[in-house]
Amino acid sequence: MRRKIIAGNWKMNNTLPEAKSLVEDILNGVAGNPNIEKRELLDIILAPPYPYLSLCKELIGKHPGIYTSAQNCYSEEKGAYTGEVSAAMIYSLGAKYVIIGHSERRNYFRENSALLMKKVDLALKNNLKPIFCIGELIGERKAERHFKVVRQQLAEAIFLLKEVDFRRIIIAYEPVWAIGTGLTATPEQAQEMHSFIRQLIGVKYGRKTINNISILYGGSCNAQNAATLFAMPDVDGGLIGGASLKASDFISMIETLSKINK
Ligand code: PEP
Repeated sequence: MRRKIIAGNWKMNNTLPEAKSLVEDILNGVAGNPNIEKRELLDIILAPPYPYLSLCKELIGKHPGIYTSAQNCYSEEKGAYTGEVSAAMIYSLGAKYVIIGHSERRNYFRENSALLMKKVDLALKNNLKPIFCIGELIGERKAERHFKVVRQQLAEAIFLLKEVDFRRIIIAYEPVWAIGTGLTATPEQAQEMHSFIRQLIGVKYGRKTINNISILYGGSCNAQNAATLFAMPDVDGGLIGGASLKASDFISMIETLSKINK
C-alpha cells in the first residue's frame, strides 16, 4: 500500500534550543489533534541536522508514527573520512530514513548518480529507508527535457536495485526550480510527473510494486498550497523545506494530508 508521508527537511537551520522547541511544538500540535484524521495511515518524518538526531528521537519517544531521518549519509562504510557520518551511525541514533540525492547535494557537492547509488546501497544495508530525490533544473523544463532527465536519474540510480530493495525506497520529486524559490509546481505539473514516474516503475518492476511506492512532492510546498498538491492522485505527500521550520505551518500541512482520501 502507498503510505501517506510528510517529511520536514530542516536543512542547515536551528540551534539546539530552537530544534528542541520546534520538535516539542510539533509533537504538541500532533498529539490528540482532532483535525488529524486516520492517524495510522500517515507517517511524519523529521529530518534535522545530524547533531540533533538523538535529541529528536528522544523527544519523540513513544509518539506513534513520527520518525527521524538524516539529510544525508556518507558513501563509505567507515574509516578515515574526517567530518563524514555513516549510515550505520545514523541507524544507531534511532533514525529510520535518510534523504539521498537532494538537489542541494547534487549541485553544491557535485554528487552524481554513481555516488548516490553507493549511498542508497549503504543505507539499505544499514536498515535505513532512503528518501531518494529527483527533479529537473529550470532550463531542462524550459527545453522540455524534464521527463528525460527524471527518467535518467531513476535509470542511473534506484532502478538498478532489485525489486525487494526498491520497495524500501520513497521517491521525492522535487523540481529544482521550485526548491526554496516560492515557485511551486502547479498541481497539474506535479501530477503529470508523478504519474510518469509511476508508469516507469510499472514498466521496470510491475504493477504490485507501483502500489507500494510513495512518491512525495517537494518544492515551495506550504500551508496554503498543500491541499491542491496533495489531492493529486499520484502525490502521496510532501518533502517540505522552509515550511517545516514553522510548527504551525507544518502541523497544518499534516492535517491537510491526513484528510486526503485516495
Ligand atoms: C526541500 O529542500 O526539499 C524543499 C522542498 O525545500 P522548500 O520546501 O523550502 O522549497
